[in-house]
Amino acid sequence: MRKNIVVGNWKMNLKREDALVLVSEVLSQLPKDKDTEVVFAPCFLYLYKIAKMCNDFERVKVSAQNCSKEGKGAFTGEVSAEMVTTSNGDYVIIGHSERREYFKETNADLAEKVNKVLANNLKVIFCCGERLTQRENGTHFNWIKQQLSEGIFHLDSNDFTNIVIAYEPIWAIGTGITATSEQAQEMHGFIRSILNEKYGSKIAENSSILYGGSCNPGNAKELFIQKDIDGGLIGGASLKSDDFLAIINSF
Ligand code: PEP
Repeated sequence: MRKNIVVGNWKMNLKREDALVLVSEVLSQLPKDKDTEVVFAPCFLYLYKIAKMCNDFERVKVSAQNCSKEGKGAFTGEVSAEMVTTSNGDYVIIGHSERREYFKETNADLAEKVNKVLANNLKVIFCCGERLTQRENGTHFNWIKQQLSEGIFHLDSNDFTNIVIAYEPIWAIGTGITATSEQAQEMHGFIRSILNEKYGSKIAENSSILYGGSCNPGNAKELFIQKDIDGGLIGGASLKSDDFLAIINSF
């Protein structure tokens, strides 16, 4: 059975004290009757503390937003997957469009990062998504297939069970423009079909595929009822406990 997952990607937001208050507020109001997994993705600096705060909540996890493709050594300013593991992280987001665009991370770089994350017993939230021009000229399906093929399809079936995919159309991230539930479902269904081709039906059916891009309390329900949408990667709306909780409660 695949999991429903709601991830709050805080990006480079929230002072430490505000971050801790946000986590406390969400933890204190988590719905008791649902089994949705909730993931906080703070900056590296708060990871250990937030992991500790979440320790008693079995279905609450923490994620880094990135990690180095290097294992260790003279890479000033970098953070390794091993450091995330030893700070009690559970996941690492790999391939967010902001990393691809501003830090020029290629699919080949991301494949190396994925390997490091898995080698350190963490799970991957692997992001893919097309630009508006690609959707308009009809190349979006091939683009997504290429991102997945080059970023994660080198993995064997066993490793693939530790991958969560997040489909995030770039034109919807932080813009207030959400993909319609039909557009999102169409792409999620396509992604699941290529997982089926590559890894077979068991893995395809058990893989969680999240939607990201201006998901908010007003549209989450409509997105989450789609048959191939298993939750969300939430940016802006994860920075306020009421909004984030409303999205978690949309299942
Ligand atoms: C994101 O950055 O992953 C994201 C989906 O952002 P937003 O929800 O703000 O569009």
